[in-house]
Amino acid sequence: MYANELEGKTTMKSASHTRRSFLRMTAGTGAALLGGSVTKALASGAINPGASSVLLVIDVQNCFLPKGTLPVEHGDEVVPVINALSKKFENVVLTQDWHTPGHTSFASSHEGKNPFETIELDYGTQVLWPDHCVQGTDDANLAPGLDIPHAQLIIRKGYHSEVDSYSTFLAADKETKTGLTGYLKERGLDDIYVCGLATDFCVAWSALDARAGGMKVSVIEDACRGIDLNGSLDAAWSAMTDAGIARLQSGDFA
Ligand SMILES: [Zn+2]
Repeated sequence: MYANELEGKTTMKSASHTRRSFLRMTAGTGAALLGGSVTKALASGAINPGASSVLLVIDVQNCFLPKGTLPVEHGDEVVPVINALSKKFENVVLTQDWHTPGHTSFASSHEGKNPFETIELDYGTQVLWPDHCVQGTDDANLAPGLDIPHAQLIIRKGYHSEVDSYSTFLAADKETKTGLTGYLKERGLDDIYVCGLATDFCVAWSALDARAGGMKVSVIEDACRGIDLNGSLDAAWSAMTDAGIARLQSGDFA
């Protein structure tokens, strides 16, 4: 697990602490916002992704668009931004939330529970969502406007019925891996740029796991949109900033 790899690394310990705080926050506790300033990374205006860079496009799927089952407000606006951004990258990986019918993260799977309430599961607090991104449905398809023919990998997550996976690296039980870390390592891709939906859940959890795994990580803010449940958007940016993740804009690229 990442936690073991982090032992003895002071900066990572700090990131790990922030992550735990953020996890509590996004678990729906509604706790006070995290400390730490949210600052924008200095824009260089001339970032040139190289051979070791990869654009990670998180969950730009019908379910998270305005007409989907778990709509992210203005989620459709990221599509043209990401299409343009992807042209600057040799390496692009797409992800899909890919749930079984009756998945444990669905409110409908728990009697008497409504979407956006929480429940305690073996691995911790789980936010309950409307049924979304069910395997093989049109709702789970990539957004039709997404135009990234040179994407090299589509990685799916959330397909174990008893555990959710916001992160595209590690499921919510913190043990089940998707294999993406191994893929990136084998290909020598360690400069990670993250975009997609939603900023404060799957984007943030993926970015934090990549960072905890020792990679250089940037999140491109205007290529993301958030859900903002109980202040989760500010909490996500605080956690990411504290972890040493750069906050960029698409205009920062050459
Ligand atoms: Zn999901």
